Amino acid sequence: EEGDFKTSQRFAQHMEKKNEASSDFAKSKTLLQQRQYLPIYAVKEDLLNIIRDNNIVVVIGETGSGKTTQLAQYLHEDGYSKYGMVGCTQPRRVAAMSVAKRVSEEMGVTLGEEVGYAIRFEDVTSEKTIIKYMTDGILLRESLRESDLDGYSCIIMDEAHERSLNTDVLFGLLREVITRRRDLKLIVTSATMDAEKFSHFFGNVPSYTIPGRTFPVDVLFSKSVVEDYVDAAVKQALQIHVQARKGDILVFMPGQEDIEVTCESLTERLEELDDVAPLTVLPIYSQLPSDLQAKIFQKTPDGVRKCVVATNIAETSLTVDGIAFVIDPGYCKMKVFNSRIGMDALSVFPVSQANANQRSGRAGRTEAGVAYRLYTLNQYKNEMLVASVPEIQRTNLANVVLLLKSLGVQDLLKFHFMDPPPQDNILNSMYQLWILGALDNTGQLTTCGRSMVEFPLDPPLSKMMITAVEMGCSSEILIIVSMLSVPAIFYRPAGREEDSDTKREKFCVPESDHMTLLNVYQQWKANGYSSTWCNDHFIHAKAMKKVREVRAQLKEIADQQKMPLVSAGNDWDIIRKCICAAYFHHAATLKGIGEYVNLRTGMPCHLHPTSALFGMGFTPDYVVYHELVMTSREYMQSVTAVEGEWLAELGPMFYSVKESAKSRQEKRKAAKARVSEMEEELALADEQLKQRRAE
Ligand code: ADP
Ligand code: MG
Repeated sequence: EEGDFKTSQRFAQHMEKKNEASSDFAKSKTLLQQRQYLPIYAVKEDLLNIIRDNNIVVVIGETGSGKTTQLAQYLHEDGYSKYGMVGCTQPRRVAAMSVAKRVSEEMGVTLGEEVGYAIRFEDVTSEKTIIKYMTDGILLRESLRESDLDGYSCIIMDEAHERSLNTDVLFGLLREVITRRRDLKLIVTSATMDAEKFSHFFGNVPSYTIPGRTFPVDVLFSKSVVEDYVDAAVKQALQIHVQARKGDILVFMPGQEDIEVTCESLTERLEELDDVAPLTVLPIYSQLPSDLQAKIFQKTPDGVRKCVVATNIAETSLTVDGIAFVIDPGYCKMKVFNSRIGMDALSVFPVSQANANQRSGRAGRTEAGVAYRLYTLNQYKNEMLVASVPEIQRTNLANVVLLLKSLGVQDLLKFHFMDPPPQDNILNSMYQLWILGALDNTGQLTTCGRSMVEFPLDPPLSKMMITAVEMGCSSEILIIVSMLSVPAIFYRPAGREEDSDTKREKFCVPESDHMTLLNVYQQWKANGYSSTWCNDHFIHAKAMKKVREVRAQLKEIADQQKMPLVSAGNDWDIIRKCICAAYFHHAATLKGIGEYVNLRTGMPCHLHPTSALFGMGFTPDYVVYHELVMTSREYMQSVTAVEGEWLAELGPMFYSVKESAKSRQEKRKAAKARVSEMEEELALADEQLKQRRAE
C-alpha cells in the first residue's frame, strides 16, 4: 500500500511537470493530423508530378519523414492501384509487419484486406489488397513465378541504403523488368544522402530530396574505452532518467540477449533507487512477438518516460516519436561469411560511422536531443568504417545463386550488380550448391536444384526435404525442417531454470537434437496441439503454432511438386541418415573427451549445453550440425549423431572411410578438377565481363 502511495505521488509530480511542458503532439492529434504534419506531406504534389513523368525515381528523406508509411498511400490516392498493387519492400520483417499495421490504421481498413503484408511463411493479404508491404525476399521469390511482376503497378524499394542482399539482387532484376514494362513505376527510397549511386545505377534517373525537419543533436563521446557496453548503457540511461528533462530514451544493442539483459538490469536497478519516477522499459527485436513489438509505439501514461531498447531495427526502419536521448554502444550483429569455417557466422561487429550518425540523428526528430556514444572519438575515427560493407559482399550467396540460375541467369558474373560480390563468394556458393547436387559440373541447375528452388528454405534444408522422399521419411523431415525454421522453441525463465531443464530433458533423443525437435512436435500433436501443454513444458505455444503453419505451407509445396509424405515408422536411423545427407559438409569428429573438431578444417567446435547430446554420457564419433554459432567459443547448434560410413557414402567428395589412399587421392583429384573447371569457367566469364565493361 505504501508502494501505491509512492507511485501516485510520483504521478502527481509528473503531471505537474508535464503540464508545464508542451504537450506531446502525437498524443493529441488525430491520425490525419499526424499524417499532415510529416515532412513528406508538404511536397506531396511535387513528388507525384515527378513520378508521373518518370518511371524510376529515387526519393531521399531523413528517417521519419514519412516515406514508408505515406508514399504507398499517395500512389494509391493518385490512382495507380487501379492497375495493380502498390508494393513496398522492406529488408526487415518487423518493419513490414509494423508499417502495414500502421498504414491500415491510417486508412481505416482491416489489416490483411486493402492493406496487407507478406513475410516468409506469413501472408496477410487477400484478393482485396491494394497496398502490400513485404520483405525484399518475398518479392524476389514472386519474380520466380512472374518474372515481370504483373500484379504490381508500382514498386517501392524501401530502405535501399541498407543494401540488404535481397534488395541488391532485386535492383538488378528490376532494372531489366522496367525495360520490358513501360507501365511500371519504380521508386527507390533511401535515408542517406549518397543516393547518387542508385540514380546512376538505373541510368541517371531523377532523385528527389524531401526537405527535412530536424533539430540539433549534441553528440557526446565516451572519454575512455568502454569495457562492458550493457552496463555502461544501463548506467547512462539511469542517469538521464534521474537528471534530465523530459524526453524518451532509445538504447541500441546488437541483439536479443543483450537487449534482454539490459531491460532486466534497468528494471532491477530502478527498483533499488528510492523516489525515482516510473520508467517504461520496452524491448524491440525481430523475434519478439508482434503484440509486444507494437508496444513501443503505444503512449505511456502522461509524464512517464519511455526507454526503448532496440537492435538496429530502430536505426532507420522504425521511427518512435518523442526520442530525445540516444545511447549508442556502437555495435551491431552482422552475418559475415567466415572463410575459416566456410560458412556464414553471425557475430558482433562495430557499426560504421554512417550507422553511428543515423543512430545519433534519432534523438533530434521532435526536439533538440543528445546522443551518448559509448565509444571514444578516437575509436570512431580509427576503428569504424566510413560505411558498412553491403551484405552481398560479405555473405554466402548460395540462395541467390540458386534463384538467379533458375531465373535463367546463366552467367552470374554478367549479372548487373550495383556492387558485384567478390568472385570468391560466388565460387564458394556455387561449390556449396554443387556439393548438394543442385548444380552439375558445368554449373547448370540440376533437377534436384530446380526442385530445391521451390522451397523458401536454405539449400541444405531444401535438400533434406528432397532426400527424405527418396529415403522414405518425408513425413518426419517435414516436421524437423519446420521446427528448424522457427527460432526458440524452449524457454528458460529466470528462477525456474532447473524446473524447465528437467522438463526439457524428457524430450531428449540422446543421439539427435533434430529428433528431439521431432519428438516435441509429435507429443504436442498427441496432446491435441494444446497451448496449456506447451506452457506446462516451458515450450513457446506461439512458436509451436507457427511451426504448424510452416509445416502446412511446406506440405503444400511438396504436394505441388508431387512429393509424397512417407513415414519412416520406427526406423529412426533413416531419419538421421537423411539429416546427414543434407549436412555432411557440416561434420565433426570426436577428439578427446567431449571435444569435437570439424572434419574438413580441423577447427574445434563444441556441443552446446542445451544440446540433447550434451552430458548424456553418449559421445558419438561423428556428428553433423545445422549451424555454428560464435559466442564465447564455437558452438554447434542442432546436432545429430551419424555413422562414419554415411559420411563417406553421402559426401564422397570430402570423406572416405575404408578406402585405399590411392582411391582417396583420385577422388580428391577429381573433386579438385571439377572445382577448377568451374573456376576456369568463372574466370573466363570475368574476362568477358571486363571486356564488355571496357567497351
Ligand atoms: P520514414 O520511412 O521516412 O522513415 P515513416 O513513414 O516510417 O518514415 O514514419 C512516419 C511516421 O509514422 C513516424 O512519425 C512514425 O512514428 C509513424 N509510425 C510509423 N510506423 C508506426 C507504427 N507502427 N505505429 C505508430 N506510428 C508509426
Ligand atoms: Mg522508412
